[in-house]
Amino acid sequence: MLIVGGGLVGLTAALVCRHHGLAVTLVERRATTSPQPKARRFHVRSMEVFRELGLARAVHEAARDLAGHDRMAAGRTLAEAELLPLWRPSGPAGSEVEVSPEPPCLIAQDTLEPVLREAAVAAGATVRFGAELISFAQRPEDGEVVAALLDRTTGRRERLRCRRLVAADGARSPVRAALGIGRSGRGPVGEPSVSVYFRADLGDVVRDRAFNLCRLDHPDAPGPLASVDGRHRWVFMTAGDTAGRDWPRLLRTVLGVPAPGLEVLSVLPWRAEMRVADRYTHQLVHLAGDAAHVMPPFAASGANTGIADAHNLGWKLAAVLRGRAAPALLDSYDTERRPAGWFAADQSSRRSQALSDPAAPPDPTLAHPYVLAAGGFQYTEGALAPGPADAADPEPVTEFAPAGRVGTRVPHRWLDERRTRSTLDLAGPHWALLAGPSARVPDRLTIPGPYAAALAVHRSTADFLAPDGLTLLRPDHVVAWRGAGPDAATATLAGLLACDLPPTG
Ligand SMILES: Cc1cc2nc3c(=O)[nH]c(=O)nc-3n(C[C@H](O)[C@H](O)[C@H](O)COP(=O)(O)OP(=O)(O)OC[C@H]3O[C@@H](n4cnc5c(N)ncnc54)[C@H](O)[C@@H]3O)c2cc1C
Repeated sequence: MLIVGGGLVGLTAALVCRHHGLAVTLVERRATTSPQPKARRFHVRSMEVFRELGLARAVHEAARDLAGHDRMAAGRTLAEAELLPLWRPSGPAGSEVEVSPEPPCLIAQDTLEPVLREAAVAAGATVRFGAELISFAQRPEDGEVVAALLDRTTGRRERLRCRRLVAADGARSPVRAALGIGRSGRGPVGEPSVSVYFRADLGDVVRDRAFNLCRLDHPDAPGPLASVDGRHRWVFMTAGDTAGRDWPRLLRTVLGVPAPGLEVLSVLPWRAEMRVADRYTHQLVHLAGDAAHVMPPFAASGANTGIADAHNLGWKLAAVLRGRAAPALLDSYDTERRPAGWFAADQSSRRSQALSDPAAPPDPTLAHPYVLAAGGFQYTEGALAPGPADAADPEPVTEFAPAGRVGTRVPHRWLDERRTRSTLDLAGPHWALLAGPSARVPDRLTIPGPYAAALAVHRSTADFLAPDGLTLLRPDHVVAWRGAGPDAATATLAGLLACDLPPTG
């Protein structure tokens, strides 16, 4: 396996592939991980992926500087800003819901990426920073991709043969461009903006007002100020371009304090866009992350959607390349993740429009925040075996009401009184079968057919299970099938692995 791109998504893809036992080489043309903080909010679904990889604790530990920075704040300047009340979305009928075994995590991308890089190396991936993919040729008849690589330090060129290539090479994706894959979507969303990353000791200014984002309304340069480490590192975003702007002076104005040691680290002009690749797979190449979709950052979904791509793709690559499933299983990557990418990009764009026009009436079709955070997008086609009744009961989007429907992430329920083990811990890297308390099924089943394997059965009293019902979980925690009877379960899994299930209807 060759992964191109050592950003968040490429590194996560390397970790997921290693978790499933694949040999992985990752090449990243930069010498280091991202110097920019960019993404800072990692949703519960991403933390569940890191939990499965055994990394959630390390990520929370690395995030300690921003622990407790959950609040929003607002004011004309930072000096005048006040914390806003903490808003927590509720579940059905206003109830408090426990969404996940993992809390979300605020951690800047430039802090997270080194954690992932180190973990990928420790997991046995060959991780080569300073190495660039120059060109590649696919030979589907031989089942291989031949990649030309350049070591940017030594200038040495080499060829690498691999069975699949994952392009996690960012929004401009040279791989996507070489394949001529177009993108669709709204295009630019909102005004051009500038992100100014700066260092200033503002510990005394923000004492007792720890915030994630502070909306500064100063007329000279209104915009949000984001905490990167809660004390010394900050990102200020404002509309317009960089020309003729004295950033240290402007920053001191909107901060409302002299900030004597203030140092501008970088100034990044950018424009939010919504674009989704027209296909995620071309023969032996798969696009993931920003290579596949870009979206405005206001729903904090860009990196999170890319991490979900890697999680979806990794187990399918392993199943196919290790001979445990038919090659057509990989077709479901595009079938599932392209609509998911479109959904996240569309929601992010509409949220950004709502933010730019606060006077506009609220959009009743916006997804519930927990639906975005818990990867609540429902796959309707793909590596799934929905029954006729499933189509009549789709997962809602505007409320958070997970019920173990086919094509959704299994709802989180604790399995023990100490609250250490969740339904999310049952699957991955293997498939799992959840059985209601009165289901007549042995503790272990054997999958018949060319992809014979063992399937572990877990009994549970979780409320989303019928007492005698069975729920088949994929390695990425997604419900693949609901039904009754062990023979039906094993025949369904055999059919999913062989990609020869009859159509439902
Ligand atoms: C201001 C801002 C705020 C954001 N906030 C959030 C947020 O809160 N939450 C969120 O989820 N997302 C957020 N995002 C989006 C998030 O940063 C991106 O979605 C994420 O970085 C995408 O990761 P990636 O690995 O797909 O791509 P990238 O991080 O772009 O990584 C791609 C890598 O591929 C490498 N590469 C390219 N070509 C080659 C080649 N030929 N050979 C080798 N290497 C190559 C590049 O050097 C690069 O390192 C934000 C973005 C911005 C700009």
